[in-house]
Amino acid sequence: MHILIVEDEQHLAYLVRRVLVEERHSVDLAHDGAMGYELAASGTYDIVILDVMLPKMDGMTICRQMRADGVLTPVLMLTARGSVEDRVTGLNVGADDYLTKPFAMAELVARVNALLRRRERGFDTNSQLQIADLVLDMTRHEVRRAGKIIDLTAKEFALLEFMMRHPGQALTRTQIIDAVWRYDMEALSNVVDIYIHYLRDKIDHGFPHALIKTVRGIGYKIEAS
Ligand code: CA
Repeated sequence: MHILIVEDEQHLAYLVRRVLVEERHSVDLAHDGAMGYELAASGTYDIVILDVMLPKMDGMTICRQMRADGVLTPVLMLTARGSVEDRVTGLNVGADDYLTKPFAMAELVARVNALLRRRERGFDTNSQLQIADLVLDMTRHEVRRAGKIIDLTAKEFALLEFMMRHPGQALTRTQIIDAVWRYDMEALSNVVDIYIHYLRDKIDHGFPHALIKTVRGIGYKIEAS
C-alpha cells in the first residue's frame, strides 16, 4: 500500500517510515503542512498519517481541506498526549482514527492495518496469523493454541503479533523494543527477555513443540519447527 506520512519531527517520521516499509508498504514523507497537503490532495495514497502540530499548515486544516476537495483517503491523526480536544476536532474534520503520542510502533501498524481492512471491507480480508497450531486473530483480539484460547495482556499480544508477522526471522531485542514499546521509552534492556518468558509460559508451556526460539547472540524468533 502507498502511505503518506506528514510529520515534522524527523526522527519520528523516519522511524514510522522504517516500520511501515518493513510491513512492505511504500511510504512518502512530508515534513511540513504545505507539502503534506499538496501530496495528500493528489488522492493517490491509500492512507495518510497526519500530525496535528505542523509548520505552514496544521493537520486539522489539511484534513478539513482534503475532505472539502473530495479526497476520501483514510486519515490517521497523530495527536498530543491526552488532548481530548484534538481527538474530537480531528474526528470532526474528517479523520478516520487517531493515535495519541507517544505510541508503540506495533499499535501504529495495527491502526494502519485496521484502516486498510476497513477500506477493503467486502473483500475477504485475512485478519488471522497462523504458525503451526497457534492462531492470532486480530479482529477478535484472540489467541488460540490447538484450539484452546490463551489469555494475553495487551503487551504480550502486541509482542506475539509482531513476531508472527515475521515468521522464522531472527528479531533483535532492539527491533522488538522499537516495534512493541513506545519510541520515547528508555526500555529496560531485559524487558524483551521478561516478556518472552511470559509468552513462553502461556503459548509453549505444556505443548510438545516450542514455537518461540532463542537465537543465540541475536534475539528471538517464532517458527513452526
Ligand atoms: Ca509536529
